[in-house]
Amino acid sequence: MNIKKLPHIVIVGAGFGGMEVARRLKNAPVQITLIDRHNYHLFQPLLYQVAIAGLVPSQIAYPLRTIFRKQKNINFQMGEVTSIDFESRYVKMDGSVIAYDHLVLAVGGQTNFFGMNSVEENGFQLKNVESAVNTRNHMLKLFEEASREVDAEKRRAMLTFVVVGAGPTGVETAGALAELITHVMAKDYPQMNMKEARVLLLEAGNTVMPAYPDELRKATFNLLRSKNVEIMLNTKLTNYNGQQITLADGGQINTHTLIWTAGVKASEITNRLGVQQAGSGRVRTDAFLRIPAHPEVFVIGDAAYLENGNGQPLPMLATVAQQQAKVTAQNIQRIIKKRGLESFHYKDPGLLATIGRNAAVARIWGLSFSGFIAWMIWVVLHIYRLIGFRNRILVLVNWAWDYIFYENQVRLITRE
Ligand SMILES: Cc1cc2nc3c(=O)[nH]c(=O)nc-3n(C[C@H](O)[C@H](O)[C@H](O)COP(=O)(O)OP(=O)(O)OC[C@H]3O[C@@H](n4cnc5c(N)ncnc54)[C@H](O)[C@@H]3O)c2cc1C
Repeated sequence: MNIKKLPHIVIVGAGFGGMEVARRLKNAPVQITLIDRHNYHLFQPLLYQVAIAGLVPSQIAYPLRTIFRKQKNINFQMGEVTSIDFESRYVKMDGSVIAYDHLVLAVGGQTNFFGMNSVEENGFQLKNVESAVNTRNHMLKLFEEASREVDAEKRRAMLTFVVVGAGPTGVETAGALAELITHVMAKDYPQMNMKEARVLLLEAGNTVMPAYPDELRKATFNLLRSKNVEIMLNTKLTNYNGQQITLADGGQINTHTLIWTAGVKASEITNRLGVQQAGSGRVRTDAFLRIPAHPEVFVIGDAAYLENGNGQPLPMLATVAQQQAKVTAQNIQRIIKKRGLESFHYKDPGLLATIGRNAAVARIWGLSFSGFIAWMIWVVLHIYRLIGFRNRILVLVNWAWDYIFYENQVRLITRE
């Protein structure tokens, strides 16, 4: 009997893009190896909720082996891919070699500090579970320290929280942090004067949410101000030593907390591939999301560089990664069937960001919403997009509890 070997598809990265490709190839005549350095898929849009003590990591991350338990044509491998040999068609993972017929690189991004080493060393970021938990522990610990600090100046520095970057992540973090202080910490530390606590949002540009339409930028600005977030536009920082921020105009801000949300670049491995890269280190692809010199290799999501119809790079968003995953899974099947490929065109599903309780901004079907309606849309969509029935229920219960009782339930300081 002539047993035909199935094409071997190796997918590196089980984030939004990689996981979606694997799922969409469920019934395809292929053998899949899915590799990730973590054994879970992480819902990054809610990482800030871990940092502000709203959710625990297990509510926004889900084990990959559980996700793919019922999928017969997949093998998950936990490990770090360190190099790829495009000529011989294999990836190296923690010392082993895995050969492929088609490779999908969905390795995502990492924080871009734009060469500001002092910020990278002394600041906090929201990119993975560890960084979000570190941020939470650090901030909660500062409240403890401030509660016994008698020097008012030192206390104010401990209670000054600076978020850098007024894109959606910075805005969401600043808004949620301000609410944590007003609604929760004020109750936990009744002896402290919470008016000493400040949340500053620093932005180098002249507006919050630059990618959003004008009416939503204004709404975001006003909603943040109503939550006592101090917005500092046209403000660049040059140094942060862990105690003090130095601004480009020479100004200084005393703070023990700087959360950097001002930049993303492609994952480290993209620099070691020897292929053409564009802005932020993203790998240039053709219209079918392939590396032009290696058409059996697809790159999708944050790691890929492709322009939209207006000559602008596609944004680094989960929605882009998921749509690219769909087209890539289809194109792999087309290749197997020896059919022509479909090019990628991004369909913008709209914009959505929350600023806190009852406060969000949204642009959907060409309409702008802000306030409670936008916030309800945000809550429903985020619950829906979370993986796992258990996680959806837990997050919903958590949020409902926090909403009714003005609490953030995860106020645990879990390590030094
Ligand atoms: C705090 C935050 C908030 C965000 N909010 C939103 C939002 O509201 N809406 C939205 O659309 N987008 C949002 N994004 C962006 C969105 O998360 C990304 O665009 C999306 O995750 C990109 O998907 P991806 O598959 O390219 O990469 P990722 O989802 O980042 O997945 C990449 C995977 O590759 C793995 N990996 C990387 N390198 C290696 C290697 N060498 N070996 C093995 N494994 C490797 C990583 O562990 C990871 O699991 C947010 C991002 C962050 C950080």
